[in-house]
Amino acid sequence: MHNRKLILSLKDINSNKKGNIAAIFSLSNGYMGIQASDPITGANDVGTLVNGFFEYSPITYGEPAAFYPKNNQTIVSLPSLRKIRLLDENNHSFNFSELKNISLDLSNGQLTEVYEVSNQGGEKIEMTVASAIDQKKLAFYGIKFSFKPISYQGKLVVDKHYKIERKNNDGVGEVEDPRKTRLVKSISKHIISSDDFREVIKIETKESQQSVTIEGYSTSEKMLTKRALKTGFDITYIYKVSEGVKNKGVSIEQNSFDKIKEHSHKFWEDVWNQSEVTVSGNDEINLALHFNIFQLNQATGRDGKTNIAAKGLTGSGYEGHTFWDTEMYMLPYFIYTNPEFARNLLIYRYHTLTFARKRAKELGIKHGALFAWRSINGEETSAYYPASTAAYHINGDIAYAIGKYYEATDDDDFMEKYGFEILLETARFWREFGSWTEKGGKKQFEFLTVTGPDEYTAMVDNNYFTNRMAENNLKLAYTVGLRLAKSNQKVFDRLNSSESELREFHHIADNIYFPMNAQYQINAQDDSFFSKPVWPFNKTPKTKYPLLLHYHPLNIYRYQVNKQADTILADFLFPETITDSQLRREFEYYETITTHDSSLSRSIFSAVAARMGKVNHAYRYFTDTVRLDLTDLQGNTEDGLHLANLGGSWLDVVQGFAGMQVSSQGLLKMIPHLPAEWDSFQIRLAFKKRLLDIVIDKSQTQIVLLSGDPMEIVINQSQQTLTKIIKINN
Ligand code: BGC
Repeated sequence: MHNRKLILSLKDINSNKKGNIAAIFSLSNGYMGIQASDPITGANDVGTLVNGFFEYSPITYGEPAAFYPKNNQTIVSLPSLRKIRLLDENNHSFNFSELKNISLDLSNGQLTEVYEVSNQGGEKIEMTVASAIDQKKLAFYGIKFSFKPISYQGKLVVDKHYKIERKNNDGVGEVEDPRKTRLVKSISKHIISSDDFREVIKIETKESQQSVTIEGYSTSEKMLTKRALKTGFDITYIYKVSEGVKNKGVSIEQNSFDKIKEHSHKFWEDVWNQSEVTVSGNDEINLALHFNIFQLNQATGRDGKTNIAAKGLTGSGYEGHTFWDTEMYMLPYFIYTNPEFARNLLIYRYHTLTFARKRAKELGIKHGALFAWRSINGEETSAYYPASTAAYHINGDIAYAIGKYYEATDDDDFMEKYGFEILLETARFWREFGSWTEKGGKKQFEFLTVTGPDEYTAMVDNNYFTNRMAENNLKLAYTVGLRLAKSNQKVFDRLNSSESELREFHHIADNIYFPMNAQYQINAQDDSFFSKPVWPFNKTPKTKYPLLLHYHPLNIYRYQVNKQADTILADFLFPETITDSQLRREFEYYETITTHDSSLSRSIFSAVAARMGKVNHAYRYFTDTVRLDLTDLQGNTEDGLHLANLGGSWLDVVQGFAGMQVSSQGLLKMIPHLPAEWDSFQIRLAFKKRLLDIVIDKSQTQIVLLSGDPMEIVINQSQQTLTKIIKINN
């Protein structure tokens, strides 16, 4: 991070809606998330999320059918650790509060808020709240309240006991907007011990049978303290949130606010050291980019058993589910800056293979695995199969990410223990799911009745993106398998594979059919796409977007209209499959019919435009992308940040403007395009055990090898040997 401090505060966001602030300024560490809710007016029993802590509820179908998923999975909102009650000496509460400022220091993870708090009579005090989450001992959170008189000078009662409002209900509430969450009611909350100095509460789910224990204590005062305000005083509380039930009287492990802050600071120092992305010449963009990377790191499960929810731990939108968002939009950042985090995210998928094998069988595929489209624990949980289970590309997305991880790390251990098994099982799925047909006198392999990334088109034959992903998946299983057959026969045998099976994968991959549109000479999104009329955009008022909230899906499905990048995403991922001129035609065509109703769309259009050299065009998409949550562009930031889009903004800088790719020979390749609005930008990348620092300015690209052995690198089409530093004119 440049020497300048990077602090996000109220002036940097467009909407001061409480929900937006709570999400944007939330603190998390991949294990738990604490929303920045107002400690005075915020609710008692929401605001804390634990990654992977969810409740089941039965999905009720009007018309059930075989093998529909049976249960919803919903992340549970746990009691707020920030809630506090303030009373004056007559026991009248100070229950009004106004946020005066809030600032999140991205260099050390510390959050500071200043509130003006008042009582019914209009008497005021100032409350400053400093908080941090531990990035090493992940169960800990510390919060310090400082009080100062404004017009009220008397005694102040500070009460940090829990008030449990909801308990022992059944079921879940329903929602109308599919992007929001259900309210989990079938949880019980109990205070298991409470004395002057400490309080322990337990939250249990009824159906999933999970539990969490929250222990809280004050380091300086009692949980209920009465003090004269005079010149002011402060109280610090420490919370420990652990999975499983702790017995009454359990004593909180020693930790202090200073230690929590120290661990947090150290973590962020390392993050920025590894993954600096600095834009010079535009402070607003630079701050937004750092914020995005900050939140991406905060959201990520680090234990191989948890993943990243679509909203991270900043809100419970999409019910806390993990989607393909992780592999396609967020993993690239980790693969090229922090491979250990990337590895753990992929190991999470490995742990869900049992569910994936079962799901494949339920769909009539005897050999292989089909990963869940959306889930917390790996079991499919979507009730609407046209936009979930039919999105078989999830298999190819996971395989793609494994291929990219391996290409950037040479992590054979991962491949032998986890990666190859996933590649093999997904390849087996494609083999059995697809079918041979004759097209134009040639036998070709097709995938029928699938949904691609664009959720405004469903259940079509030969979605181009899906077919490309399947091809890549089958080829990866082949190449990695052949290598393993030679280097570690045991793994190969354990999985009952054979060279002839691998050859079959290759043969299928070589014969996959890809739909083309002859009129425009571009890849067709699917077989029937161009037989449909274009959506009547000129008759659709702005208020009718996103279309999904205003039109029946069948109404949308019968038109050419895209919610998000689909064929263009395939072009982005497989640049070697398309010529420059076709890419231009394709970009222009699909751009006109794309609504960007999904937050996963713009970043891809930006990266592809940059690659095409349309830098101004790319920059327009990028400015929307990079500040999407800070401006509440999608109108639903209060449900949680759009994590895939945060990752997308990194993709734009690194794979768009810096033009980073890995060549077919496995070399790091860059074709930089500096936006006119910037003086320069700097990125750091980890690649095959090296750390690189890259600065791109108006005249040159400079690459410094910070650690690791010399390497070959390709810049602007010319191959160079990087021993320490190279500078190339742009
Ligand atoms: C998008 C999906 C995405 C999901 C979660 C939907 O709006 O269409 O592609 O996986 O959001 O972010």
